[in-house]
Amino acid sequence: SEADILLKVTGLHVRYGAATAVRGVDMHVRRGELVAVIGNNGAGKTSILRGISGLVRPSAGQVTFNGVETVSFAAHQKVRLGLAMIPEGRLIFADQTVEDNLILGAYIRWSRERPRIRTEFDEIFDLFPRLKERFHQRAGSLSGGEQQMLAIARGLLSRPALLMIDELSLGLAPKIVDQLMGLLRDLNAKGQTILLVEQLASHALAIAQRAYVVNHGHIELEGTSAELSGSPKVMETFLGKK
Ligand code: ATP
Repeated sequence: SEADILLKVTGLHVRYGAATAVRGVDMHVRRGELVAVIGNNGAGKTSILRGISGLVRPSAGQVTFNGVETVSFAAHQKVRLGLAMIPEGRLIFADQTVEDNLILGAYIRWSRERPRIRTEFDEIFDLFPRLKERFHQRAGSLSGGEQQMLAIARGLLSRPALLMIDELSLGLAPKIVDQLMGLLRDLNAKGQTILLVEQLASHALAIAQRAYVVNHGHIELEGTSAELSGSPKVMETFLGKK
């Protein structure tokens, strides 16, 4: 039903000057789902996420989140509504410690809920034991996979209704990608709603319930992961690279 829909995107357009990167995207995410957005380099995946998160003001369309029309909201207002985005390249604060990076993730809650956030650190450490080991180290000294874990952990500390992740796999070794994908699947199994943008389509389809295939700034195909994994068109066009 409509009430199950956490995020609804209608007719989304994103432009950079004269260049249109997203041309009329419709999509939705239901509460509790893990939905993937796949497609080749430059297809417009990142721009869709920027439009949803408010990092770019869409030139047209609607982004309804939790029943609230948010297209004109600034990114920080959307964070308060429960929309967290982990950008491509992770953007952790390299000179700050792991601890400080995590505190920054919870900053909108820090003054009022500080004791509870400290207990949430323990939950984060259960999910990411490496972050506990490295709690007082500079974030910049972590490996790429650990930095991605930190970025995800920081996103989770804003208690997002929707966690959006752009290119989880970027620059990471295959073994680490598998590990992080498993983590996302576990998080989703515990109830976290996730929108994952990913170039490694087969990896994304392995953990998502549904997916959208983006090509030239629009949705070319959509369906369950099983449907898309079995589609010859998807295999040929998009899943050539593993
Ligand atoms: P990638 O995986 O490389 O990030 P993508 O599918 O996420 O690809 P986008 O980054 O959304 O694609 O890019 C879509 C189109 O918009 C591309 O043609 C890109 O060159 C263009 N584009 C992206 N960001 C900008 C920008 N800041 N200014 C101008 N053009 C941009």
